[in-house]
Amino acid sequence: MEYKHFNHEHNLAIFELQAGNGIHCSGCRTLCSGSAYACWKCNFFLHLECGNANRSMEHPSHELHHLTLVPCPTYSAGSFVCNACGAPGSSFSYCCPLCEFDLHIRCALLPAIISHRAHPHELSLTYGLGPQAKVSSPPDACGICHKLVDNKFWTYSCGPCKFQLHTSCATPEMVPISYQADGVSGNAAAEAGPGFYKEENGSGSSPNGSKPAEVEDPVLETQLELMRLQQELELSNQLAKMMASYNLSSLV
Ligand SMILES: [Zn+2]
Ligand SMILES: [Zn+2]
Ligand SMILES: [Zn+2]
Ligand SMILES: [Zn+2]
Ligand SMILES: [Zn+2]
Ligand SMILES: [Zn+2]
Repeated sequence: MEYKHFNHEHNLAIFELQAGNGIHCSGCRTLCSGSAYACWKCNFFLHLECGNANRSMEHPSHELHHLTLVPCPTYSAGSFVCNACGAPGSSFSYCCPLCEFDLHIRCALLPAIISHRAHPHELSLTYGLGPQAKVSSPPDACGICHKLVDNKFWTYSCGPCKFQLHTSCATPEMVPISYQADGVSGNAAAEAGPGFYKEENGSGSSPNGSKPAEVEDPVLETQLELMRLQQELELSNQLAKMMASYNLSSLV
């Protein structure tokens, strides 16, 4: 079975990668083992989770706008700071270019409620105030690593007990209880998900030609704006691909 991913020119197939192989996922740049999508010619690999990620999503932490999955950061620095965990990223991100809001795929897919052996009650995902926020209340310590947790970034917390964990500290041993974000599923099933290429007819063009200059419906207006942005992203995506293919051919 072969899959066509929007960010890779060749078909991908699912392989079992052994642990300790040093292979990194092209989507999240972290180590990749177990079932994964692969193009061996190009050393292009994707976790199932990263390959299956939806092209766009609505996330409750950013209710104003849709987030669009972009294969590489659109910022001049070439990296982004994740609004969820505060760590940088240089590959796939769920991005709102209007607000410069970015999430790692993993962070965007964090479950809303978990249980964790570090605490007897359920912990809920609590959104931070963003990297630019001023921290007002004195920060508390994480229940696992005991380092301070600042309220710019997301935590798993139990309100009544004032107990909190960094998301990165919680994830290795958490047990997901419920998901909240649109189109998020708990298991990365080994099927081609919406991240995979679909021929969509007529997207972005209307058969009646030009749209009226004045759009009164704010939702429609936002969608038009998004379409424009997505076209721009598509362009930068193609540019990146061209550059990548230069790099590859120069290696031969
Ligand atoms: Zn990945
Ligand atoms: Zn390839
Ligand atoms: Zn993150
Ligand atoms: Zn936004
Ligand atoms: Zn911690
Ligand atoms: Zn509690």
